[in-house]
Amino acid sequence: MPLAPYAMDVSRSRGRRHPEAQHPYRNDYARDRDRIIHARAFRRLEAKTQVFTTRYSDHFRNRLTHTLEVAQIARTVAGALGLNTDLAEALALAHDIGHPPFGHAGERRLDELMREHGDRFDHNLHALRIVEQFEQRYLDFLGLNLTFEVREGIIKHSRDYSPTEAPELAEYLLELRPPLEAQLIDRVDEIAYNTADLDDGLEARLLDLETLLDGVPVFAEMYAEVDRRYPGGRAKLKFNEALKRVLDRLATDLIETSRERVRASGAATVEEIRRVPERLATFSPQAAQWNAELKSFLYARLYDNPVIVEDRERSVEALSHLFRLYLEHPENMPKYYLEQAQRGPRHRVVCDYIAGMTDHFLLRLHRELLGAAARPAD
Ligand code: MG
Repeated sequence: MPLAPYAMDVSRSRGRRHPEAQHPYRNDYARDRDRIIHARAFRRLEAKTQVFTTRYSDHFRNRLTHTLEVAQIARTVAGALGLNTDLAEALALAHDIGHPPFGHAGERRLDELMREHGDRFDHNLHALRIVEQFEQRYLDFLGLNLTFEVREGIIKHSRDYSPTEAPELAEYLLELRPPLEAQLIDRVDEIAYNTADLDDGLEARLLDLETLLDGVPVFAEMYAEVDRRYPGGRAKLKFNEALKRVLDRLATDLIETSRERVRASGAATVEEIRRVPERLATFSPQAAQWNAELKSFLYARLYDNPVIVEDRERSVEALSHLFRLYLEHPENMPKYYLEQAQRGPRHRVVCDYIAGMTDHFLLRLHRELLGAAARPAD
C-alpha cells in the first residue's frame, strides 16, 4: 500500500545527528527499528514488570512481550492508515525502554526520590538518554544515533512537553505535535495492556469471568456474541475469543476514528498534521469510554488487589533502600557510575543506574548489599 500523503516519508527525515551512509537494503527507520531490537535496554525489558512482578509467575506478560504486542498492533493500525509502518514499529519497540524496574510503581517512587533533590524521573526522558548516551555499540558515536523522528517520537509518543518544562528538549519542535506514527503509539499501548491485563488477571485467578461480565460492558457484549455462536464451547476459549474481539474492536475504532479526524482536519502533509493543535490519532467517544471502563475495572480488581499491592510495595521499598544506599555510599556502584558520580550530580547518576536495572537484578543487589545489614534510615 502506498504511503498516505500525511505519512512520515523516510526520504523527508530530518536525519541523524551523525550522518551515515545509506544501507543498501534497509531504509533509515527500518535500521532504527533494528538498532532498538539489538540494544541492551531492549533485552532488559524481558526482566521488567508489566503488572505481575516476575516472581509471581513466568508465563504472564513482561515488558518485552507487552512491547511485542504493542508493535504488532501498531503495525496493523499504521498500515491501515497508510502511515509509515517501519517508523511506527520502531517507536512501538522503543516505547517502554525507559521504564525502571517494577512498572509504574517503580517509576513513581524513583520520581519521588529525585524530587527530594529538586530533580525528577520521567521514563520518556530516560529513554532518550538511553538511546543517546547509555547504549554504547558503535565506534563512531555514543548511543544509537537514531533519526530525528524516532527520537522525537520517544519523547512525545504519550504527551507534549512545554519548552519551559523541558528546555533540554528544545530541538524537538515542542510547539508542534509529532507525526501520526508517534501519536498512535499511546493509544495502541492502551489497547494492548487493557486487554492483556484482563487475560493475565484471569489466568492468575485474581479476576473471574462473572466479575468481568458485570464490570466491563464491552466485554460482556462480545462474550454474549461468542456465547450465542458457541453455546457449548469451553469457557476459557470463549473468554479468549471475546477478548480478541474487544481488542479488534478497539483497534478498528482507532483506525476509523483517526482516519476521519485526519480527513476533517484538512491536513494533507506531515507538517500540517504537526500544526493541528490536538492529536488526531485517537478513539471515538464510545471507545474512549470502553477504555475508561476497562481501566477502572483493572484498577479496582487487579492493580489494587492486595496480592499485587503487597508484592509491589515490597519491591519499591527495595528500590528506595538501594537508592539511599548508593547516595551515601557510591563506592558500591560499578566503576563507570562511581566515576560519573564524582563528576556530576550524584542523585542523577544513582537514578540512571537504578532505572536501568531489571527487577531481578535490583532485588538481588538489595539482598546482597542490604540483606543482613542495617538499612539506611528512611
Ligand atoms: Mg507500554
